[in-house]
Parts: sequence; structure tokens; C-alpha cells
Amino acid sequence: MSLLYKRVALIGLGLIASSIAHAIRRSEQVGEVVGYARSEATRETAREIGFCDQIAETLVDAVSGADLVILCVPIGAMGQLAAEIAPHLAQGATLSDVGSTKRAVIEAVRPHLSEHVHFIPAHPLAGTEQSGPRAGFAELFDNRWCLLTPLPGTDEAAKDKLVAFWRALGSNVDEMDPDHHDLVLAVTSHAPHLIAYTMVGVADDLGRVTDSEVVQYSAAGFRDFTRIAASDPTMWRDVFLSNKDATLEILGRFTEELFALQRAIRTGDGDHLHDYFTRTRAIRRGIIEAGQDTDAPDFGRGHG
Ligand code: NAP
Repeated sequence: MSLLYKRVALIGLGLIASSIAHAIRRSEQVGEVVGYARSEATRETAREIGFCDQIAETLVDAVSGADLVILCVPIGAMGQLAAEIAPHLAQGATLSDVGSTKRAVIEAVRPHLSEHVHFIPAHPLAGTEQSGPRAGFAELFDNRWCLLTPLPGTDEAAKDKLVAFWRALGSNVDEMDPDHHDLVLAVTSHAPHLIAYTMVGVADDLGRVTDSEVVQYSAAGFRDFTRIAASDPTMWRDVFLSNKDATLEILGRFTEELFALQRAIRTGDGDHLHDYFTRTRAIRRGIIEAGQDTDAPDFGRGHG
């Protein structure tokens, strides 16, 4: 079987990069994987775990000779990194990323690149609330979607190769316009995260419920908010700063719906509440039918 890429460079060695490295090894479709992270501590941990074939000491060493380079750092760091690596990217190399928003990444990265590099932004819709090089695992992308947001005029062969790469990592792959991506993700991921952060913040502020009560009785919904609200603060700061318009639009709609539900509760409008919850239940069924979650009670958690 011929290899998809001879040398893949992963810049940043956190949850997503380490998962990519593990999944690449499982796929056996890449020659070698070189990793680089800014801190010596992360490079040392990555060496110790051994998910890359090589850990480079410099950014330039990492990208030199790579036919695929993937930026796996917080969105706010991508522009600066692109500026630093651009002069060292090989002729015909593909540069991609895994950022959770796409328009901001395109605006930050593209100006630094020359014509001879194929820039194809991507976003794997897979993650956990863990971060760092120890958090990665090979199955993270299995049966999850990876959205590519190619720019007009993107080289078809380079794109097909990146699609094959993500499929080899276990993902389903789709293409989307970058702005539409940002709106879809504002609904499915960014606004829900903000709501979880808020709910956990509210519980923390509420003097009448003690911290120990919140912890002890958290099973009824709150526990899932706390899992989401434990996500990496730097990554999520950058998500909101870089997807401002779409997130604010969705939060505006959310607030309107919340007021409507608030009014229904105050006026005792049970029909409104029942109709609303019936509609939302159907959405949950759709997610399960699409194979994107389990229908086991309580998300399949054991009750031992
Ligand atoms: P992570 O586990 O926190 O790892 C981030 C990596 O980026 C670390 O290696 C860190 O280096 C490096 N880094 C941080 N700030 C940097 C800077 N200013 N300059 C250079 N390097 C920097 O993060 P992650 O969860 O893998 O997320 C990486 C990207 O994936 C983000 O763009 C995020 O939007 C996207 N993403 C995340 C998820 C998710 O659920 N986590 C899902 C899909 C996409 P050091 O270790 O040396 O500090």
C-alpha cells in the first residue's frame, strides 16, 4: 500500500495532536511523524510516551521536509506560527490545522503563505475536556466528523489526500464553507459551552446551596455541565474571541427562547413547556440515530 504522506509534522502536542499521532500509527499510512511543542516539558513528555517518531527541538526542524504540516495549537497562536514556518515549508506541502473556528484561522494564516503551499483548513469534531500530550488516544476520531473548509481554487489532488488522511484516522469527512462552519459550530458546540460555563458559575455563586450539596447531588444534569465547563480555558477563550458574531447571534436567540420558557413557567403554560420538550426530545433521537451518541441511560455511565 502506498503511503498517504511521507512526513507529517504536528505543531503543538496536546490532546488533538497526540490523538492524531496515535491514530496515524494505527493507520500505517504515513512514513514518519515529527512533533514539536513550544515548551521543553511537553516535548519531554511526548518523547517519553513515544507517540511521534521524532520530537524536533525547533519549529523549523519540525516542518522542514514535511509534506503535511498540521497546526494543533489554540486559535490565537496560529497566525504567529504560520508566519514563522511559512519560509520553511516544502514546495507542494499541505498546511492544515484543527482549530475549532475557521474564518479567523483563515484570516490569520493565509496572508503568510506562498502560492506553492496548499492551505486546507480542517476541524475534527472530536474532543474531550482533557488537554495535554497525555490526553490523546487513537480512537478519538473514530466515527466522528472532520469538516474541511477549503478555499476557492484549492488543489483537488491535495484536498483528496487530506480527505483520505482523515478517513484513515477513523473520521467521516465533509466539506463546508468556513462561515457556515462557524455558524453551525456556534449552535452545536460554542453556545452550549458558554451555557455550561454560566450554569457552573451560577451554582458556584449561589450562597443558598452549599458547595458540598452541588457536588454530592450533581447527577441530575449538572454533572454534564461540569464536564463541559472543565474544558481548556485558553482554547475556549480563543473560540469565543474568534467566533464572535455567530456565537452572539445564537446567544441572542437562546436568550429569547429562555425568556419564552421563563414566561411559560411563570404563567403556568404547561402546553408550551410540553410541546417544547417534545420537540427537543426528537433532536436527541436524531443524534442517536446518526450514531453520534449512545442511547444507554445516563450516557452509558455505570452505576457501580
Ligand atoms: P491542548 O491539549 O491544550 O494543547 C495545546 C498545544 O498548543 C500544546 O502543545 C501547547 O504547547 C501549544 N500552545 C499553546 N499555546 C501556544 C502558543 N501561544 N504558541 C505555541 N504553542 C502553543 O489543546 P487541544 O485540545 O489539543 O487543542 C488544540 C487545537 O485543537 C485548538 O485550536 C482547538 O480549537 C482545536 N480543537 C480542540 C478540541 C478539543 O475538544 N480539545 C476539539 C477539536 C479541535 P505547550 O504544551 O508547550 O504549552
